[in-house]
Amino acid sequence: MNTFHDLGLNEDLLKAITDMGFEKPSEVQDKAIPILLEGETDLVALAQTGTGKTAAFGFPMLQKIDIDSRTTQGLILSPTRELCLQITNEMKLYGKHCRGLNVAAIYGGASITDQAREVKRGAQVIVATPGRMKDMIKRRLVDISKIQYAVLDEADEMLNMGFKEDITEILSHTPEDKNTWLFSATMPKEVARIAKKFMNDPQEITVGHKNESTKNVSHEYFLVNSRDRYQALKRLADANPHIFSVIFCRTKRDTQKVAENLIEDGYSAGAIHGDLSQNQRDIVMKQFRSKQIQMLVATDVAARGIDVDNITHVINYQLPDEIETYTHRSGRTGRAGKTGVSMVIVSKSEVRKIKSIERIINKQFEKKEIPSGIEICEVQLMALANKIHSTEINHEIDPYLENINELFEDATKDELIKKFFSVEFTRFFNYYKKSKDLNSADTGRDRDGGRDGGRRSSSNDNAARYFINVGEKDGFDWMKLKDFLKDNLGLGRDAIFKVDVKETFSFFNTEKEHQEKVLEFFTDFKENGRFVNVEVTENRGGGGRGGRDRGRRRDGKKGGGDRNNRRSSNPNGSRSDRRRGSGDDQGSRSRRSDSGSENAVSSRPRRSRRRD
Ligand code: ADP
Ligand code: MG
Repeated sequence: MNTFHDLGLNEDLLKAITDMGFEKPSEVQDKAIPILLEGETDLVALAQTGTGKTAAFGFPMLQKIDIDSRTTQGLILSPTRELCLQITNEMKLYGKHCRGLNVAAIYGGASITDQAREVKRGAQVIVATPGRMKDMIKRRLVDISKIQYAVLDEADEMLNMGFKEDITEILSHTPEDKNTWLFSATMPKEVARIAKKFMNDPQEITVGHKNESTKNVSHEYFLVNSRDRYQALKRLADANPHIFSVIFCRTKRDTQKVAENLIEDGYSAGAIHGDLSQNQRDIVMKQFRSKQIQMLVATDVAARGIDVDNITHVINYQLPDEIETYTHRSGRTGRAGKTGVSMVIVSKSEVRKIKSIERIINKQFEKKEIPSGIEICEVQLMALANKIHSTEINHEIDPYLENINELFEDATKDELIKKFFSVEFTRFFNYYKKSKDLNSADTGRDRDGGRDGGRRSSSNDNAARYFINVGEKDGFDWMKLKDFLKDNLGLGRDAIFKVDVKETFSFFNTEKEHQEKVLEFFTDFKENGRFVNVEVTENRGGGGRGGRDRGRRRDGKKGGGDRNNRRSSNPNGSRSDRRRGSGDDQGSRSRRSDSGSENAVSSRPRRSRRRD
């Protein structure tokens, strides 16, 4: 692989690259930059979102334009205002050592006069959305008659959004002999047609398999009844207290509705879609970027290309109409070397789509079950324990300690802990104690037989389910955990099934006959100096819910205490504190009533719901 230096970039740009901490070119940069630097050519580049396309056209453009001149020489068209601003920022960073460089952003929903002024200052590069650009050309506020380089970024999306005529109109004001560089994630016929119409014998590069999904993303689907979709979404969020996610809906209306319901139910959620004003979208995006919003509900168009790091989950609340779009959605997570999960909530009638998507992404989905209420309670309890464990003591409370101590004089530590945890736990418990199984029976196909034995094989009274306090944080995935258990317990491979690894803890099943052996083995078992605690938990495969096999914690002292340095975002506390603001742009509406037992309590158990 080349270095940036090898690609032929000049000193000013290399300095900026060092400043930004880019170490080596991404594949699309490696392929595109030399081609664009070397000659005057048109180019079609196909690469997934997140592969670094902006720099692939940005660096060559900055190197090739004459910065001493104040004529507009480069035009970058992009589908949305968010992308336009993102590209503008990147271009400014790339060009920060290029003295005299002006980059102007042109997009709807902001003052046209201000933008015209930016252009007048001598913008060598304009980054624009098609609608506003056309407007400004008509009003003669920009002159693109001398541009040498035109970039169509996210070309497929621009065409999806119906910008074809605007683009045609805009390009008709540019010189014949300019170079056009088209960047796109996919190559539908429309894009091929545009390429043919506007481009001159373009060179072509493709990065990776055309629709390949990121390697770091695992794909899961959940089969539920259509009417339980929203409840299922809430469970998925509750089962992942540290979730930072984009939730995709098919229509603007559903997007708005789901976000409103989540907000009403005490989640830190926000919506982004085309019916919101630019200002509202800006606010939501800012809150999402700064993690004030944990769940961003979005349409495909609004979320396209949005570059937010560390998204843990993409949730397909509904599958997209065009299954190709799934790749874009799941590509929002698993970036920059991180792992991510793309979850799909499907009803029976859609489950066949999963197969088609598997063919496109060339990867298998794992069929998972919507967690039961009691599992969520466990997850929440452990998350709370972790949060408390890593909380820094605030010494402002010192003066009150004497009185507090007096009050608890007769309480043992054990009792105190139990009471303390009950305060929060009881909320979740009361909410979920009568919750039903949301998983819809899979009549269509049996996908889970392969890996963990599947629902049916564990649906016998003979299975014991365990909680174990190690998880992804300890370097486990389901396969590694299975090996670890198998090796330590001396059991056969098939004796351990339904291994479900979470961030800091996991679940697994064995046949009941092994239960004693498992518990025995893990009594006072230490791994790397910390106690590994295993307990019998609700046997959710046991033919019915309700905690029939729910075991007692055998040993309170060992559970979970060794985990620290976690992000503090306890669902009962900080997440709800963040609700303020995220609802700014959501008109209030009355809650639809959902079916299912979770109606009994219409929202999730959060202290802040009372807003006191
Ligand atoms: P795309 O347009 O293909 O979706 P972007 O150009 O938005 O991708 O880049 C995605 C992210 O990767 C950005 O945050 C960008 O700063 C970063 N990035 C781009 N190139 C590199 C590189 N060579 N090394 C490290 N990070 C990079
Ligand atoms: Mg991009």
